[in-house]
Amino acid sequence: MKNILMVVSGPSGVGKGTLVKTLIKRRADVVESVSCTTRAPREGEVHGREYYFLDKAEFLKRIQENDFLEYDEHFGNFYGTPKSFVQEELKEKSVILEIDVVGALNAKKAFPDCVLVMIAPPSVAELKKRLQGRGTETDEQIENRLSRLEYELSQKDKYDFVVVNDELERALQELEDIIDKAKLEK
Ligand code: ADP
Ligand code: 5GP
Repeated sequence: MKNILMVVSGPSGVGKGTLVKTLIKRRADVVESVSCTTRAPREGEVHGREYYFLDKAEFLKRIQENDFLEYDEHFGNFYGTPKSFVQEELKEKSVILEIDVVGALNAKKAFPDCVLVMIAPPSVAELKKRLQGRGTETDEQIENRLSRLEYELSQKDKYDFVVVNDELERALQELEDIIDKAKLEK
């Protein structure tokens, strides 16, 4: 069995964070990559756990130094995957990246063996409900995030798998099956 790199994307609020965090609690053979970002921490977020929170100058310096496997800009902030973290972790465990569509396709170019999984919402209404329920964005930010939805979902054919996050347990099982099969493949 080998360690795999799995990239999980999907619209903001679809449940990526919830799915990935639950998966990692359950499986000792899987770890999540910690991205770098220039956005401000949300309440409860810890530097080095949810993200490495960098200022823009530091982020731009790391781009120059070719420190990112991929990076992108969303909602006015930079987000990037630190290359060294992924390479080190892959020696021991499978690694999950939680990144947007553009980043995922760039990651596939850098790591052609990586498995791309799109998490889709059961409906737009349910997605809006989850974003509102999370309570971490203003109405304007929610509308901004929803405006990207159509584009994100239109890219699903470029993904290896699409998992609908309807029931959390069911979606988790589907993700686990994808990991188990990919670990067995050559
Ligand atoms: P993302 O990381 O994709 O932005 P989150 O994991 O923060 O999304 O989830 C957004 C909200 O939806 C959270 O409040 C979370 O508890 C809730 N949620 C996640 N998955 C489900 C599900 N299957 N059913 C109902 N609510 C969910
Ligand atoms: P949030 O601010 O809600 O944590 O994340 C906003 C967006 O940034 C999400 O779509 C998330 O998937 C994306 N993102 C998080 N980390 C990375 C990363 O390392 N690279 C890229 N390209 N996108 C990321």
